[in-house]
Amino acid sequence: MTTNCLFCRIIAGEIPSTRVFEDEHLVAFNDIQPQAPMHVLVVPKTHIATLNDLTGADDELVGLMIRRGVAIAEERGYSASGFRTVFNCNADAGQAVFHIHLHVLGGRKLAWPPG
Ligand code: AMP
Ligand code: ZN
Repeated sequence: MTTNCLFCRIIAGEIPSTRVFEDEHLVAFNDIQPQAPMHVLVVPKTHIATLNDLTGADDELVGLMIRRGVAIAEERGYSASGFRTVFNCNADAGQAVFHIHLHVLGGRKLAWPPG
């Protein structure tokens, strides 16, 4: 746990969140500023600051994150209508929290290309 990391503190229960999933590797909770009817963040329990910090040892973890996002979208009924998964990395992508997280957005038509 990195004590000055917002998501480590959420994982530790020091900061409240609306959890929608938890297992030994991951937590998922609702984004505090949802950009769509479903806006869930899938977060590994281990602190990894950005996508640039991933190694081969994290391949299974990243797979678990993506498959969990897909499962949450499926539970909400968005498999057929569609949904979006996003990892932001560093400043130009607008990364604000430096603990990797997968955004899972659905429930409305999402524009492409992104702004
Ligand atoms: P990013 O810009 O990819 O780093 O995304 C960070 C996300 O974390 C944003 O969508 C924020 O709305 C969200 N966020 C920030 N603080 C909290 C919080 N306390 N609980 C849930 N989501 C949060
Ligand atoms: Zn962290």
